[in-house]
Amino acid sequence: MQIKNAFDIEDYVFPKLDTDGYCVFHDKNTRKCLVHPVKPETCVAGPITFDINAETGKIEWFVKMENICPLAGRVYNNKSLLKKHVGSAKKEISRLVRDLDSQHLRAILKRDEPETFKIDEDKADERVLARVREWAGISEKHQ
Ligand code: SF4
Repeated sequence: MQIKNAFDIEDYVFPKLDTDGYCVFHDKNTRKCLVHPVKPETCVAGPITFDINAETGKIEWFVKMENICPLAGRVYNNKSLLKKHVGSAKKEISRLVRDLDSQHLRAILKRDEPETFKIDEDKADERVLARVREWAGISEKHQ
């Protein structure tokens, strides 16, 4: 199967949506992801998402609300599944955050995700934090 021009590129790269609003990699017959073994980190981590708090120096973890992601409700209501998934999501997202260049990381952090709620936080990677604090105009002396 070939999908031409499968990605949109704005401030960062993401799969295009089809005319029904589905990701171009969503197989409507099987209801599975066509690129599962190599799907983007954000999909591996979903419905877990993140923000970096320049003031506290923490990477904060959020879960999408069930009304925008039915999978989120299933994951959140199964505590052992949630714990396992959050662990792997943290690893994927932390790697993504470390690898992203500043332009893309900044674009992702600028996105508001109001339909989420916070579930945890950890100390952020120092090099990533230094970049975020620089954008926010927060000096190390004020920590
Ligand atoms: S998991 Fe990601 S890449 Fe796969 S169909 Fe869903 S949105 Fe698209």
